[in-house]
Parts: sequence; C-alpha cells; structure tokens
Amino acid sequence: MKKYKIGVLGATGMVGQRFLTLLENHPWFVVTKVAASTRSAGKVYEDVVKNKWLMSTPIPKDVKPLIINDALIEFKQISESVDFVFCAINLPKEETRRLEESYAKCECPVISNNSANRVIPDVPMILPEINPNHIDIIESQKKRLGTSRGFIAVKPNCSLQCYVPALFPLLNFGLEEVKICTYQAISGAGKTFGTFPEIVDNVIPYIAGEEEKSETEPLKIFGSIISNKIVSAKSPRISAQCFRVPVSDGHTAGVFAKFRNKVKKNDIIDKWRNYINPIKDLRLPSAPNEFLKYFENNDRPQVKLDKNLEKGMGISVGRLNVDSENSVKFVSVSHNTIRGAAGGAVLLAELLCARGFI
Ligand code: NAP
Repeated sequence: MKKYKIGVLGATGMVGQRFLTLLENHPWFVVTKVAASTRSAGKVYEDVVKNKWLMSTPIPKDVKPLIINDALIEFKQISESVDFVFCAINLPKEETRRLEESYAKCECPVISNNSANRVIPDVPMILPEINPNHIDIIESQKKRLGTSRGFIAVKPNCSLQCYVPALFPLLNFGLEEVKICTYQAISGAGKTFGTFPEIVDNVIPYIAGEEEKSETEPLKIFGSIISNKIVSAKSPRISAQCFRVPVSDGHTAGVFAKFRNKVKKNDIIDKWRNYINPIKDLRLPSAPNEFLKYFENNDRPQVKLDKNLEKGMGISVGRLNVDSENSVKFVSVSHNTIRGAAGGAVLLAELLCARGFI
C-alpha cells in the first residue's frame, strides 16, 4: 500500500516528538518532513533533539537524518512535498492561526494540535469516537478558504478528553450542569521535573486559558452543523477549575454532573459499557479496542496505572457515586500527550483518510 507523506510542524517539541514516535512504523503514514523554528532550521534532526529527547523510546531511525525545515518561511515547499501536516507548534494564537491557514491555502490539509483555530465555526474540532460527523463542515471551510484540497481540522484541548467521552453518553439523561476539577500533568505544559522544579511537592491552582477551554470546547463537540458552521450546544452549563500537579504524564478529572431526571448508578455504567462507537467499523490503526473502561475498584482509575490503557488511547472512568437523586460524581483519566494530543490527532488523520477528505 502506498503510504501518505507526512510533515510534522513543531517536530522538535514535546508533542512533535510524540507524533514522530507514534508515526514510526505507522501502516498508512510516513514522515518525510520535519519543521521547527529558525533556531533549528537547516540542522540534522538528530543533532537538534539528541540532548532534549523526552520520549521513553529512541528517536525513530528514519527521522534522525532529516534536515529540519523552517515551518514559517518554507511553508510552500513543505506543502508541495507532503500529503498533509500535523501541527504542534508553540506560537502566539494569531501567528498559529495564520500559519495553519497558509498551509491550508497551499492545498495542504492541516491536522492541528493547537487551540488557535478551535474557535473558528467552520473548523471541525473532533474527538473521533464522539463527533466524527463534524468533518462534513470541511466542505464549507474549503469554500471560505478558496481551496480544493486544503483545510484545517483540530483536536480538542488535552484535559477535556478524559471527561467529555464519559459525559457524552449521558446527554440523553438530560445533563444540565457539570462541575469539573482537572489535575493536569506537567508534560501538558511541555515540561519535565527537570525543567519545572517549582512543581515538585506542589500544586499550582492556575493554568492560563485552560478553564475557559474546558468550559466551552465540550459545547462545540456536542454541537451540530447548521448551514455553513458548527453551532455549539447550549447545555450543559460547565464550570471548571484546573490545577497543575506533580505528575509527569496523564490528566485526571473529578466530575460532578447534575441531570434534569432521576439517575441510577447502574444505568450510567450501562451507558458507558454499551456506548456505540460510531467509528468502530472503520478499524482505524490507532483506535483503541475499548474506548471507555469503567473500573469497579474504589482506588481506580489512577494516573500511574491507567494512563497507558489501550496504548494511551483509552479513557478510564471510576468512582461513580450517586450524590442525590439527580446528580452523580465520578473520576476519569486519560493520557494527555497520547489521547490528549498527538495520538488523538493521528486518529483524526486516519478518520479523514478513511472518509476521503485526505
Ligand atoms: P514545545 O515543547 O515548546 O515545542 C514547541 C515547538 O514549536 C518546537 O518544535 C519549536 O521549535 C516550535 N516553534 C517555537 N517557536 C517557533 C517559531 N517561531 N517558528 C516555528 N516553530 C516554532 O511545545 P509542546 O508542549 O510540544 O506544545 C506544542 C503545542 O501543542 C502548543 O501550542 C501546546 O499548547 C499544544 N499542546 C500541548 C500538549 C501537551 O501535552 N504538551 C497538549 C495539547 C496541546 P524549536 O525547537 O526550533 O524552538
């Protein structure tokens, strides 16, 4: 089978490294371009990252000799030589938005990890097992951009990927209000304990921009396509508090959910266990076999034990308790740089290829 040629923008960073690791030996994709800032451009990939390689597996051997391109300056050359790019660049929002549009306008699809384009109504923000139908908005986006092949598709914020999959199957119970506390790993800030010593023995009760994203992005995912845009759902009301905690990888959420109707614990567990995954039949290479796993044990899910469920693509849920006749609380965990970042984006790219958008 002919493989799709891939470029990774931001390939030297933490999420970029995760992309390269996940794409090594991928059955459909092969990385042929790596790009980063002017600081790294023109240099051999291995030379630039060997002293800052953060993954537990070695640098993929086929990527080591690649010469790094300048992601901002060489966008035409990169766009022309690949089938699509993954974007994991760390730039101010406006610059990221312009950069991603410039690739799309060069007829190069962009699968982005960044938040810059998530608020644009004709840019689909996809959690593949939840709202795969939102990719149909791409035709409207292409009209706006004046492209025949180029577009932008994004994955949502890393932290909401642990609780949105658990909330979505419960919408039919009349979900009215959700309160969430997230306990987020330091890799979510591109950090390690070595580069973030102030987090050791500490909890920091603020992550810039995170609470707003946690409250608004789920509503876009729960939304519908109406004419040429995705219109966010009006409910549930979501209130979030986000903490940075001394954990290397894996985000945890404590969730309180209130419903219009009475709910029973077993009905909720049934909804999770019998969730009909709309992309299951596509058998995408990165899709987990078990998307949502409910743990009965009182001490699960634990980030250390459960973040790597299904190679980091599974969502773990547990500690479900009924609070009152119409409210419950539970805990959920997911891997922030796999499901929450690069892995979620690779799965999205697979969906777009399988559905003929790339
Ligand atoms: P990072 O480790 O700081 O890496 C940033 C990347 O962007 C590097 O490759 C860097 O290249 C490149 N870059 C920086 N300035 C640039 C410029 N002016 N022109 C071109 N390239 C430039 O960041 P990260 O943690 O991987 O995060 C990347 C993005 O993903 C961020 O927007 C972040 O918010 C988002 N995100 C991260 C996570 C996570 O779990 N870490 C999860 C979801 C989303 P050089 O090496 O050449 O500087």
